[in-house]
Amino acid sequence: MAFLWGLLTAFGWAKPLKIVVTFPILKDMTQAVIGDSCDIHIHTIVKGLADPHTYQLRPEDSKTLADADVLIINDLTFEANWIHRLIESSGFKGQTIVATKSIKPRQITPQSTDPHAWHNVKNAIIYVNNIAQGLQNLDAQGAYVKNAEKYIAILKELDQWVIQQWAQIPASARKVMTTHDAFSYYGDAYGVTFLAPVGISTEAEPSAQAIVKLIDQMKAQNIQAIFIENISNPQMVKQIATEIGKDIKGTLYADTLSDKEGPAATYIDMIKHNTLLIIKALQR
Ligand code: ZN
Repeated sequence: MAFLWGLLTAFGWAKPLKIVVTFPILKDMTQAVIGDSCDIHIHTIVKGLADPHTYQLRPEDSKTLADADVLIINDLTFEANWIHRLIESSGFKGQTIVATKSIKPRQITPQSTDPHAWHNVKNAIIYVNNIAQGLQNLDAQGAYVKNAEKYIAILKELDQWVIQQWAQIPASARKVMTTHDAFSYYGDAYGVTFLAPVGISTEAEPSAQAIVKLIDQMKAQNIQAIFIENISNPQMVKQIATEIGKDIKGTLYADTLSDKEGPAATYIDMIKHNTLLIIKALQR
């Protein structure tokens, strides 16, 4: 069977891979691995401004996955609320690629990990390698690993660029508040402290005590750089900013990208946008 498949692929008779990814950041990375010249279709389950933490499955998701050859997921509990139900209901028989494989997760509790590993560009390189290797194993004729090498060279430059940007800001001033705890991998990688009223998943509501504690902390540390995010509810952060008499400094992209016309249409643009916006707020 493997021989026959190899023969069909070699003569260009095999059908292109049908790939399903869970959210837009994985789609952007997978697109870079596939390259421009290919007719492979990537279907994204959580599109647009939907929140991947709390996504409500639609009947067509199950149909889409049933037809797929490959499912690419973030894992580390990011899609845990719905992915297992989707795999079961679709009867998916293809290969699953875990983009975060071999990344050391930030452990939140013994049962839960922080899924937002992509915000450290060094982790994004691991994502791209995992995606490329997984696709190459399924389709030996594809140029996935070769394309990934080109993209990874750009990501390495991006990582250096982020480090250089942060060199302008003293370590003691690198304190930021945002909507939910999505930026701790970024913070660990580039030496920035992020505070957030909502934890690693957007579904959890903070207690009144936790908010009071956070406000005290923000006043004590004189935190100026306060942001909302593109998908999670901005209400809590707006109230806290009002309470301490500070302005919101803009919108960070945490768990999804912007539309094509927006400032974070690709993974690379998202990292640049977030970095420049935070640094500008800290320089004021
Ligand atoms: Zn998140």
